[in-house]
Amino acid sequence: MEGILAVVVPCYNEEEMLDYTAEKLKGKLIELINQGKISRKSYIVFVDDGSKDQTWNKISELSKNCSIYVGIKLSKNQGHQNALLAGLMSVKNQCDMSISIDADLQDDINCFDAMIEKFYEGNEIVYGVRNNRDKDSVFKRFTAQAYYKILKSLGANIVYNHADFRLMSNLALEGLSNFSEVNLFLRGLVPMIGYSSASVYYIREERLAGESKYPLKKMLFFAFEGITSLSVSLLRFITILGGIVSLISIIMLFYILIRHFQNQTISGWSSLIVSVWFLGGIILFSLGIIGEYVGKIYLETKKRPKYIIEEISQSK
Ligand code: UDP
Ligand code: MG
Repeated sequence: MEGILAVVVPCYNEEEMLDYTAEKLKGKLIELINQGKISRKSYIVFVDDGSKDQTWNKISELSKNCSIYVGIKLSKNQGHQNALLAGLMSVKNQCDMSISIDADLQDDINCFDAMIEKFYEGNEIVYGVRNNRDKDSVFKRFTAQAYYKILKSLGANIVYNHADFRLMSNLALEGLSNFSEVNLFLRGLVPMIGYSSASVYYIREERLAGESKYPLKKMLFFAFEGITSLSVSLLRFITILGGIVSLISIIMLFYILIRHFQNQTISGWSSLIVSVWFLGGIILFSLGIIGEYVGKIYLETKKRPKYIIEEISQSK
């Protein structure tokens, strides 16, 4: 029995892309249906993320004329990640697998075949990973690479060069729905769900029409969001810094004492410098300890699932 595929597309001011995207996706779905790879009940969900242009009008027209399209309109602009989550949660239990893809179709829809194949092979999550960054500017390539490295070293497990183009099975969607956090960074959360996963590789194209909704400012904000929402390691830096300063203050103490007994100091200098270093060290260290607790509180408030059961085996 072929599975039902739901394609989820977040759209923000995409009136220029929408007709083209809808046509292309529909063509792809029909092709997959005809090849017997997915069920006839497969469909495409457009999530309008509070667009200010004709996006919603176009979506509602499409969905009225053809049952393969479903439209969801958010009450206001909530950002890409929230729009995507809204779409994914709306298809949960209404499909066997979902594929999320941006409205500009920069990601290769011909990967659907490989993704679906990997799903049938037993993978609950299939990541679309871009193979090329040669069209990006040197700056973007460098910053992207550095960013992945930093995230990894902070303990966040994210798939290199993977954005939000991925297949998730209904089981994986169920898993995702257990995460109730408000600060969303999906590409960091999805690996936390677990289950077996796979990757497919593709070449990412340039945007055909309209402009990127991620200007540098928004991208930097998003990058910082990724770090702070996934990891509390930054707080630990304060503790480490406090430790280092305290250590330096001990070295300084010896240096100052030597200078003092060599009579090479102005009166009052020794006591002043010793207290500056010593107090600095203690303050930073104490901040770090408070930071450790804040980090714990932060993780507690996220109420992340402590585990997700994949299977239970027992004899009746
Ligand atoms: N998007 C959204 N809400 C926003 C910003 C963007 O739903 O507030 C959607 C947008 O319509 C597109 C996807 O998120 O489908 C990715 O945006 P874009 O292609 O502009 O990002 P880029 O590829 O430049 O990183
Ligand atoms: Mg894009």
